[in-house]
Amino acid sequence: MAQKVQRVKGVNDILPLEAKQWQALEHIVKQVMDRYAFGEIRPPIFEKTELFARGVGEDTDIVSKEMYSFSDMSKSSLTLRPELTAGVVRSYIQNNLQQISPVQKLWYEGPMFRQERPQKGRYRQFWQFGAEAIGSPNPEQDAEMIALFYAILKELGIEKSVTLKINSIGDGESRALYRSALQEFLRPHLSLLSETSQKRFESNPLRILDSKAPNDKDLVKDAPKIRECLNDASATHYAEVLKMLEAMDIPYVQDDLLVRGLDYYTHTIFEFTSNALGAQDAICGGGRYNDLIKELGGQDVPAIGWASGIERLLLVVDELQPLKTDSGLDLFLIVQGEDIRVKAPKLIHEWRSAGLNCDLDTLRRSMKAQMREANRQEARYVAILGEEEFDQGVVQLKNFETGEQEAVSFNDVVSTIKKALSS
Ligand code: AMP
Repeated sequence: MAQKVQRVKGVNDILPLEAKQWQALEHIVKQVMDRYAFGEIRPPIFEKTELFARGVGEDTDIVSKEMYSFSDMSKSSLTLRPELTAGVVRSYIQNNLQQISPVQKLWYEGPMFRQERPQKGRYRQFWQFGAEAIGSPNPEQDAEMIALFYAILKELGIEKSVTLKINSIGDGESRALYRSALQEFLRPHLSLLSETSQKRFESNPLRILDSKAPNDKDLVKDAPKIRECLNDASATHYAEVLKMLEAMDIPYVQDDLLVRGLDYYTHTIFEFTSNALGAQDAICGGGRYNDLIKELGGQDVPAIGWASGIERLLLVVDELQPLKTDSGLDLFLIVQGEDIRVKAPKLIHEWRSAGLNCDLDTLRRSMKAQMREANRQEARYVAILGEEEFDQGVVQLKNFETGEQEAVSFNDVVSTIKKALSS
């Protein structure tokens, strides 16, 4: 036997049964996005490497060690997108979307690629859906973004098992102030910090706050809080976001150590976590990124966005409240007799053309085996067609749920089933 080819480490096959769950989730996401007036955007899967280096930040884990980069025939360095905010912003700038409307509310869904160490809930190809609102600097936009993801959680029926953690890292001025305060606090203990945190001490000291190293965690417990360094404008913005969340009955906890791993954030940052997951407990993360559009060559336009991992969200949904799906098959046609087998395809073709979801056996199996297959596919109806029925122009139509059976003429099959299904 020829050797089997295995899938690449850290990626998943989503098989038909599981895909039903995905579709049910996607349906909810799309409906909620419509309700909140977000339009879908589908940027490409790969971009110039430079976009992520500049957009996500050279210093981040994503860019420094996780990207799938390659050169194409023209020797340009390209990268499979590790996230989509940079791609959406690139597209916004390139397509002059601000000319269509001063606020662009966009959502997306698709696979992302990061060379992380695979484990439960952490993959090398994983899917995200996300939303970006580009154009408004105001706190109501932050509140709307958070309400948008919360609405999806509510539709999934899991909002009570999820925690919204929120923090503000303020504007540039507040962050500069905090950076110095934090460095001053950490400097005497520099040698006790983990190697990574020592490296970040100069380049990105805020990231030391979310270090997983036990020593670092102990140290930062008593560190000054960024909230205490926010200037008036930043503090007011943050307070207003919290007030609006309260008014909308969206519970949150303030997390002074939340800084998030990407470089582009300003002001409000947040994460939704679930304790139904293990170590990888974040199901959604996002925040405001007021400087990114300018940094990528666009105008000085503020924005805010979030992204949620579909595999992880489905792990939570599976654990707490599995999504309802049905087989979708209205009818399975069971045929008996050699002659009938050649006539059946035309019949089922007509029913399918009229909008019925139906199937039939192409292996020429016994009646019993065909019935088993109809059962396996959870068909709502079976239609039995033998020579006698064919001569009379009817099928024996059987409702699988009630067991009721009646002879129905070929032409009435579709209307009979549609009527029964709609009542
Ligand atoms: P990030 O883009 O890192 O802020 O991640 C946003 C969300 O994407 C996280 O909250 C996770 O739900 C999901 N996510 C990030 N990285 C992975 C991964 N390697 N595998 C699966 N899901 C991921």
